[in-house]
Order: sequence, then C-alpha cells, then structure tokens
Amino acid sequence: MTHILDIKDLVTNFYTYEGVVKALNKVSFHVNHGSTFGLVGESGCGKSVTVRSIMQIVQSPGVIEGGEIHFSPDSDNGETGIDLLKQTERFMQDLRGNKISMIFQEPNAALNPIMTIGEQIAESYVFHRKNQIIEKILGLDRTGENLFPKVSANPLFLPLYHLALHRPDAFLLELIKKVPFLRNWDRAVLHTAIEKSVELLATLGIPNPDKIVHQYPHNLSGGMKQRVVIAIALASEPVLLIADEATSNLDVTVQAQILDLLKDLKKKNIISSILLITHDLGVVNETCDRVGVMYAGNLCEVGKVTDLFENPKHPYTKALLDSVPKIRQIGDLKSIAGNVPNLVNPPLGCRFHPRCGHAMAKCKEVFPEMTIVDDDHEVACYLYH
Ligand code: SF4
Repeated sequence: MTHILDIKDLVTNFYTYEGVVKALNKVSFHVNHGSTFGLVGESGCGKSVTVRSIMQIVQSPGVIEGGEIHFSPDSDNGETGIDLLKQTERFMQDLRGNKISMIFQEPNAALNPIMTIGEQIAESYVFHRKNQIIEKILGLDRTGENLFPKVSANPLFLPLYHLALHRPDAFLLELIKKVPFLRNWDRAVLHTAIEKSVELLATLGIPNPDKIVHQYPHNLSGGMKQRVVIAIALASEPVLLIADEATSNLDVTVQAQILDLLKDLKKKNIISSILLITHDLGVVNETCDRVGVMYAGNLCEVGKVTDLFENPKHPYTKALLDSVPKIRQIGDLKSIAGNVPNLVNPPLGCRFHPRCGHAMAKCKEVFPEMTIVDDDHEVACYLYH
C-alpha cells in the first residue's frame, strides 16, 4: 500500500528560558492512502507538535531540527513524494487548507463570528480554487470564457498581473475591488460557492442547510459548529484531513455523531485519508485502521488497531489499555505509577524507564530503536530486541 504521508526521524525542540524542551525525538510513522491513522497518547506527549511540524506551523520558540516529511498526494505514481521540510513557506501556504486540511478542538476559534456560515465555506471554496480562477481571468483557460482582452485593456491590469503572479490571494481581492466589470463575474463565482456550501452542509447532515448558510456561528450548537468547521476543511477537497482532538470538547453523543460522520465521509470517498490526533483509545478503536502510541515525545508502538488492541507489546501501551475503565470493572481503576517526565531533562535511554516494571540496565542508557514484531506491527522496547 502506498503512503500519503511518510515521516522519518522527526525532531522538534522548543528553546525556552528553562532550557531546551525536546518535544519530538526521532518520530517515524506513515499514513497509508485511503486509511485513517490515529496518533494517541497523554496530553503533552507530542501529538499536536507532530501535526504542527507536518504543517510547519510550530510557533516560536519551537524549531523543527531534523527529519523528513514525505507527502505523496497521488496514490498511483509510486514515488516517495515531496519532502515538506525542504519546501518554501509560499509552497506550504498553498498546501495548507488545500491538499491538506486541518480541524482543531475548538470550533469557536476556527470560525469568524461576524461572517455567515455560507460566506466562510464559500471563502474556502473560492480561495482554494484561486489558481484556476486566476488562470481563467488571465485568459489562460482556452476552453472557458476568455476574459483576457477585457481585463488587459484596463489600466490596472499590469500591476494586478504582477500581484497575481506573486500573491494570488491578494490579487483576487484587489481584482474584485478594483475592476468593476468583474464584480458580476465575482458574484457568479460566489453564487456557485454558496451553492456548494449548501451541498456540503447537506452532506454533513446539517438540517435546513439553505437557511444555515445565512446564519452566524453564535446561532449554532457546538456539534453543528464542528460540522461547519469540517465543511470549511472539505470545501477545498483535500486529499488528507488532519483532525487534532476534533471531538474532545464535545459531549459524548455529539462526539459519536462527528466520528460517525468522519467514517461516513471516508466510506463515500469525500475524504480519502485521515490523520486523527486523540488521547482517547475508544475513539481510535472506533475510527482508525492503524495507530501510533506516543509517550514523552517518542513513538513507542505502531500497528494495525486490531493487533495493537488485542496484542499490545510495549509496557506503556499495555498500561494505557489497562487504565481504560471497563463496563464491568471490578475494583479500583488501574493507573500508571509515576509522572510524565520533564522534557527539558528527559530520562536517558527509554523515556518510559522510570515508570516501567520491566526496565533493565540498558533501558536506562540507550534509546531503543523500533523493531518489527509482526506484520505491520513495530515496537520500541528492549523486551523485543
Ligand atoms: Fe520498559 Fe525497557 Fe521496554 Fe522501555 S525499553 S519499555 S524501560 S522494558
């Protein structure tokens, strides 16, 4: 199976006044085309830093200091893909929210309170098609309506042309503002975009989508807002959707609806590959095909969800699964003894060794590399070396 995302030895550090926080220590995993990969672990283990590193939106004082992130949007070409860490910021700006979309935990932070739902989805639809739209305006689209003669006759054409080449977003806005005859054309684009928004909202199971497009975020419930955020993410027809704790703030029934929705979108091929970040093993079990377990900036175990849940290998994965409350739980809940280490000064060797009942001398000295223990099942632990 080909990989849409292949991450190798990713290292991200944060340079703080207290010292260097070693947030990601040689993290490696891949996401198959057409599958859902779950990244699971406690708060602060590095899940969100991993996705922020993929999208290159790690905020200062964070620095991505090593590794490779190969992205292959096309499942058929069989190539290793482009290394995102070697691309320019301009390239990444075009990629974000376009080929790769992201949804976050807090829908309120993602939505603009003074724009209607329809305008926000339409904005995503229009801006992620800006290159096609600009090509058409500049007369490059030989099959469509050729607007080039009219636009080039306008004295504003040359400065706008340069803006189009260098800053397509700004170009589109300026063009719409400054070239009066394009306003009708712009309205036509927006009209299509609003129609698409209604279609998308209907696909996402929102009742009365033609009314909802004219409402504002404060008119909607938390679950509805998260559906709208998903609609904005899908308006650009991404090949990979990254969901960072996207259901954590919702109550259990709404959470189940959103997870069902993501599964349904995959089944209908509206989205092909998903990278799901969560601290909830139940969410992984429900939604994912493969899973990676993170602890203190390291990936401990990766494998198919069925294998990993039925036959966990790493002591941390076992402890994590044991600490999940069972319906017929008898006695106290099990917890993992000790605390998560401070990543300014993490333990040498295996970062889990101070809490591990199987720790040996070498566990305290050298970091265990990933070992293949079964078909598509790897673990970083000396018990299996
Ligand atoms: Fe425990 Fe050693 Fe395995 Fe780490 S490498 S999980 S300390 S046995």
